[in-house]
Amino acid sequence: MNLILFGPPGAGKGTQAQHIVKNYNFFQLSTGDMLRNEIKNKSELGDKIEKIISSGEFVSDEIVDKLVEKLISKLKFKNPIIFDGYPRNMLQANNLENILNKFNQKISFTIFLNVSREIIEKRIIGRITCKKCNITFNEFFNKKEIEEHSCGKEFLVKRQDDDKKIAMSRYDTYMEKTKPVLDFYSSRKGFFEINGSLKIEQITNKIDDIFKSLRH
Ligand code: AMP
Repeated sequence: MNLILFGPPGAGKGTQAQHIVKNYNFFQLSTGDMLRNEIKNKSELGDKIEKIISSGEFVSDEIVDKLVEKLISKLKFKNPIIFDGYPRNMLQANNLENILNKFNQKISFTIFLNVSREIIEKRIIGRITCKKCNITFNEFFNKKEIEEHSCGKEFLVKRQDDDKKIAMSRYDTYMEKTKPVLDFYSSRKGFFEINGSLKIEQITNKIDDIFKSLRH
């Protein structure tokens, strides 16, 4: 029962994916995280990836597809997978179909967190993450929580690619290139769209409803 979580950068995919991992025993496959890991490793490939991500563009399909296939072959589907940030274009969608066929698997359902450009703008610019515990806050929406954060404010950092111009270019790139993929999956059974500008708990509740409906 694998799932694709769609949504532009800043839609809250990561937060909702964590909920699904915790409550439904899924494995989160986030290509953004995988690429950031490569950057951390300081490899030659990592340097290349860093330049592309900070320009707001997509990393090449060749690089991303390879990373995804490597991980999937390692996992051997012990747990169902949430695809977070992948596939982002039709070539990647076709590649995913091929990999899944190879392992006798399929996508059972897809969830699209739909959010307007204006809201994304505020969310992305304000996003900060704690280096110590990995919790994410927003400077606009979580002032109190930031003040009271137990690890201390000195651990809160902004993601490198998070300045406004780049962030919005990432949003536009996503919407432009991923639209055909959305059209492809929305015409299939098991496509769910959720208003991603709702509060985190409201979105979580809607996701729980989807899981309930799938069990019946
Ligand atoms: P994310 O954390 O999903 O917002 O991804 C951060 C950045 O990584 C994106 O803006 C892209 O540059 C790159 N990226 C992540 N996933 C993909 C993908 N499936 N294909 C191409 N580039 C990707």
